[in-house]
Amino acid sequence: MIGVTENLRDIRDLLAFSAAEAERTPDAVKLLAVSKKQPIEKIFAAIDAGQQDFGENFVQEGLAKIDQTRDKDVVWHFIGHLQNNKTRVVAENFDWVHTIDRLKTARRLSQQRPESLGPLNICLQINVDDEDGKSGVVIDALPELAAACVDLPNLVLRGLMCLPAVRTEFSEQRKPFSKLRELAQDLRAGGIDTDTLSMGMTADYRAAIIEGATIVRIGTALFGRRD
Ligand SMILES: *Cc1c(COP(=O)(O)O)cnc(C)c1O
Repeated sequence: MIGVTENLRDIRDLLAFSAAEAERTPDAVKLLAVSKKQPIEKIFAAIDAGQQDFGENFVQEGLAKIDQTRDKDVVWHFIGHLQNNKTRVVAENFDWVHTIDRLKTARRLSQQRPESLGPLNICLQINVDDEDGKSGVVIDALPELAAACVDLPNLVLRGLMCLPAVRTEFSEQRKPFSKLRELAQDLRAGGIDTDTLSMGMTADYRAAIIEGATIVRIGTALFGRRD
């Protein structure tokens, strides 16, 4: 898997370059390798090249991969739409969930998280462009949802996540990410401190890093196109 090894090196360089442009240190931006619909061999290649954080969108596929990497030091992030009937296996197997947009889901995850694993890290997904039919909590409902999540014992609210509408212009790409950063600042002003902005993918990570992303979720640039 020479492709994955080289891609990973190139992406790390690009992330460090973007961080420097934003006057941030390279370790301020974590690379989340999005491995959905990619074969396990590519994941092994990335692990061998030092990658630790991986993101999956589909519960069954993610569980199979978690199973195949039990003996390795991997941090698993769930980044897909989470149905209520799948919360238990996610709470029992993943380290992070980026896509919480309802209190009911958060409550179930907290109840179902085995205490022996320590608290589950969560991000609240924001429908930052207020798109019809899109996952994510609407901006006005964020403060209440965040406050309720902070009170759940087996979760730790790490921050906010978004998946904005596609934009091609760099200056336009920055806007939803800037908005997410402001929302986190508003929460902080209200007494809810978080450390994570999960934003930016292959096509827009540079704009996200300029706006303060602490986790960029990159699939295609690292693993190639999905089937
Ligand atoms: C698929 C996916 C990504 C990665 O997208 P690429 O364009 O392949 O980098 C990131 N975040 C989420 C939520 C995804 O579903």
